[in-house]
Amino acid sequence: MKNGSTLQLEIQKAPTSKIDSVDFDKLVFGNVFTDHMMVCDFKNGEWQKPKVMPYGPLELEPSARVFHYGQAVFEGMKAFKDDDDQVWLFRPEENFNRLNKSSKRLAIPEFPTSMFFEGLEALLNLDRDWIKKGFGNSLYIRPFVIATEAGVSASPSKEYKFLIICSPAQAYYSGDVRVVFAEQFSRAANGGVGYAKAAGNYGAQFYPTNLAKEEGYQQIIWTDANTHEFLEEAGTMNIFFRVGDKLLTAPISDRILDGVTRKSVIQLAEDNGINVEVRPVAVKEIVDAAKKGELKEIFGSGTAATINPVKGFGYKGEKFELEDQEDSYARLFKNKLMEIQYNKTEDKFGWRHLVKE
Ligand SMILES: *Cc1c(COP(=O)(O)O)cnc(C)c1O
Repeated sequence: MKNGSTLQLEIQKAPTSKIDSVDFDKLVFGNVFTDHMMVCDFKNGEWQKPKVMPYGPLELEPSARVFHYGQAVFEGMKAFKDDDDQVWLFRPEENFNRLNKSSKRLAIPEFPTSMFFEGLEALLNLDRDWIKKGFGNSLYIRPFVIATEAGVSASPSKEYKFLIICSPAQAYYSGDVRVVFAEQFSRAANGGVGYAKAAGNYGAQFYPTNLAKEEGYQQIIWTDANTHEFLEEAGTMNIFFRVGDKLLTAPISDRILDGVTRKSVIQLAEDNGINVEVRPVAVKEIVDAAKKGELKEIFGSGTAATINPVKGFGYKGEKFELEDQEDSYARLFKNKLMEIQYNKTEDKFGWRHLVKE
């Protein structure tokens, strides 16, 4: 445990642990939470003393702003345990900076750096046993901020709650994924909140995604809202296309989330001599490439799945299947990322962050 914190973080330990009641071989993603959570309130114009306390329900006014106007943002990150029981985070400062970028867009006060890292590390140390060793095992970390001030006037809340909850995770396998390119619905528009991890972005995707599921697709690849001619991202993941031996992905914009996994893949590709083009990717060029047999892979990138290969896609009623590649880029990046995350290899980019005991 970390002592002598300058923050005087308040720590209230759970009287008993739930860990023995959890079957770590049968985890469903995001369903089980650890013994503790971090909580910090914003009131009177400042963030108060953060607390690490037993995980449990919150009590909120029914009129709290978050329920009415969706003033809420979140993050998703992971902790990994290596063979020597050391716990590592992957590029956590990226998540922290992005949380504040999202907050700013939603008129939520930014969260202080030291509170974030000291609180998170204290929480991870208390719940260390929940992080299991071995490739694929991790602890999914969900920081989030909600507007808690009572009252339904449509104005930014003056009170907020910042929380971090943690959920043990196994290797993410969602079965074969087939996607459909969006023709009608949009995820984000110019000048909107697409680049922020704003809660409302996700709620708005469920209905169109359900329609896609009825047609046999698991996910939608969102296209630009103006023309639906350019492929942007996959809802909870950024998206990559391999045409021949070239890797294509859309540039970051106010509609596209600046994924940590995405930027890591781009850097790994460059480091491995793979030609990456970060530019608008037209639906037409991908459909044409598929017809000519030049489209070798599509994969999504995001913290939960790391790299998620796509088996096929649909567009305007036509369906295309992708063959498994022996020299798969998806597998290459997944392995390279895992080797770094689990401390199996040198950390040449400085992406690993040790959680000090
Ligand atoms: C979180 C998220 C991603 C992936 O970001 P990572 O930092 O790689 O986890 C991509 N797109 C959207 C819309 C997201 O919410």
